[in-house]
Amino acid sequence: MRCNCLWPWVSLEEEKSLLMSRSEIPLVGTAKRESPEHVRLSLAAAMTLGFTKGWFYRNAKLRCINLLLTYDRGCAANCAFCGLAAEKSEQAVARGKFIRVPWQTFPLDEVIAATSDAPANVGRVCVSMITHPHAKRDVLAVCRRVARDTGKPVSLLIAPSVLTKDDLWAMKDAGADRIGVAIDAATSEIFDRLRGKPVGGPHRWDTYWRTFQQSLEIFGEGMAGVHLICGLGETEQELAGAIWRARTMGGTTHLFSFFPEKGSAMEHHPQPPVGTYRRIQLARWLIDRDRTRIEAMQFDGLGRIKHFGLPDADLEAVIMSGEPFETSGCPGQDGIVACNRPYGNEKPGSGIRNFPFPPEAEDLEQIRTELWDYAAAVATSHDFTHRR
Ligand code: SF4
Repeated sequence: MRCNCLWPWVSLEEEKSLLMSRSEIPLVGTAKRESPEHVRLSLAAAMTLGFTKGWFYRNAKLRCINLLLTYDRGCAANCAFCGLAAEKSEQAVARGKFIRVPWQTFPLDEVIAATSDAPANVGRVCVSMITHPHAKRDVLAVCRRVARDTGKPVSLLIAPSVLTKDDLWAMKDAGADRIGVAIDAATSEIFDRLRGKPVGGPHRWDTYWRTFQQSLEIFGEGMAGVHLICGLGETEQELAGAIWRARTMGGTTHLFSFFPEKGSAMEHHPQPPVGTYRRIQLARWLIDRDRTRIEAMQFDGLGRIKHFGLPDADLEAVIMSGEPFETSGCPGQDGIVACNRPYGNEKPGSGIRNFPFPPEAEDLEQIRTELWDYAAAVATSHDFTHRR
C-alpha cells in the first residue's frame, strides 16, 4: 500500500467484483522503467484514465489521479505498516504488484495525455515521493510537467527524510499548490517504533512535524495537511491530540483507517474497531472546521471519546449531514474534496470506512449505530504488539 502513505485501492485478485477484465493488465517488465520518465498509477487511477477496464462499487467516481514515483531499488525506508518497505519491494515487484493493489508503471507522457482528457470529475493530481536519493529531483520534474500540461492543481505527498526547506520552495516553483506530509502515527513513541530505528528506518518524528510547519509557511495556511492513520496502537485521545496539533499549526488532517497489508510487518494487526474510527472521523471534522476544541472534548479513563464538545442538537445535525464520514483529503478547485480514494481503507462492500461519496440514508443509519459502539475499542488501543 504505502510508502509514506499510499493507500491500497482495490485488489485485483481479492476484489474481482471491481474489475471486468484482467487481461489488459500489463505485467511489470524487466527493462528499467523509472521516474521521471515513468510513474506508477493506482488501479483506481488506471481505470479512471482508461488504461484498465473496470468499474467501481456503488459507482464511485475517483476525483484525484494519484501518481507514484518508481525506482527499481524501491523505497529505502522500512515502515512496519507499509507494503512498499524496502525488504519487501523485491518480492512485490517480482509479483507485479504492491501488496493489495497493483501499481502499474506507465510512461509519464501517456499519463499526462490521459489526464488532460480525464473525465470532468477529476479535479486534482497528486504525485507521491518515496524515500529514494533521486526522488526529490524527480518529483520536481514530474510536478512541473503535470502542472503545465494538464492544468490541474497538483499536490505533492512528500518524503521529509530526504528534503530541506529549499526543496519545498522548489516544489512551489514547480507548480504544486498543496503538500501532504504522511506523519501517519499519532505519537512519537509509535512513530519511532514503526518507522524509525527499531525497524531500521530513517524517519524521525521531529523531522516530519518540522517539515509540515515549513510547508505551511511556504504554501500558506490550510495548504498543507498531515496524513494520520487510525489503528496503529494509539488511543482515541492521542489521535485527537495529533489532529488538534495539526489544526493549531494551520493545517488539516487527512485520515486513514489502518488496513493490514499482506507481507508487511503488521499484516496480522487488526483494523481499528469501526466505533473508534467513526468517533475519530467526527472529531477530525469538528476540529478541522473549528467547531470544537480539544479542551472541550471529554475522554474516559481509557482515552475513548465520550463527548465532542458541542451541544447534542448541533452534533446530531453534523452527524446527519454525513460529511464527517466522507474521505478527507486535498480539495479540487471547487473546494470539495478531490482526493476521495475509493475503497482505500477496506474492501468494496458494506463496511465502508471513508465514504468516497455522500453517505445515503441507510449508510447514516449504520454510522449512527457504529458511532456509539465502544465494545472493541479498548482492546485494539492497548493490545498492539509489533509482530515481525
Ligand atoms: S490527501 Fe492530498 S497529499 Fe494526500 S494523497 Fe490525497 S491529494 Fe495527495
